Amino acid sequence: MALYRDHGIVLRTYKLGEADRIVVLVTEHHGKVRAVAKGVRKTKSKFGSRLEPVSHVAVQLYERRELDIVTQVESVDHFRAIRDDLDRLGRAASMLEAVDQLALEREPNAALYRMLLGGLRTLASHDSELVTAGFFWKLLSLEGFRPVVDACVVCGATTGLVAFDADEGGLLCTEHRRGVPVSPESVSLLQQILGGRLNEALDAPTSAATHEVDRLATRAMEHHLERRLRSVGLLDGG
Ligand SMILES: [Zn+2]
Repeated sequence: MALYRDHGIVLRTYKLGEADRIVVLVTEHHGKVRAVAKGVRKTKSKFGSRLEPVSHVAVQLYERRELDIVTQVESVDHFRAIRDDLDRLGRAASMLEAVDQLALEREPNAALYRMLLGGLRTLASHDSELVTAGFFWKLLSLEGFRPVVDACVVCGATTGLVAFDADEGGLLCTEHRRGVPVSPESVSLLQQILGGRLNEALDAPTSAATHEVDRLATRAMEHHLERRLRSVGLLDGG
């Protein structure tokens, strides 16, 4: 058992006893970590305010078998632009929740950590629904489920794409349509986001397609998380 340092983003916190708090972080080098922050709920706590969801911190932790202990915290970025805006805070919460479900305890996944950090930075600089949607599509790609949006998943047709189905893993043409209907505007927005032009999409004004793509991304993410949770259940024998 030893002391270690890492950078992390606070995913959630909950109370422990009278004065302590359990903090769940996704870290750069140690995967998801659950640690006790002692005395943080007392008014004179040095690092209570630094350990809030969304916070990007540099931490020193004392490793233990179950819960580690937070021994030092420095704030790297408090993401005030997100914190001061309820809409953005809500979007950040969905991003943190998805990462919380995908990150494994003490299993390093630097790509996941960096993706969340990048997503929060984008959210801090862009007030758009598409930040979360773009983040979810990227996260799905990282997980190996990059949706097909350039052609029909079944036949490869590149025109007349009218539906999206999470089970099929992408868009479908008029002949093979199933799942959710998708407008032509949303098809091009999806192609823009997944084609590496997220910034262009973020700067465009909000439209009906923005909401549609946002809903599609949330649905695809939920679908993936359910499937994953089911498969974890199978492995555990439950
Ligand atoms: Zn087709």
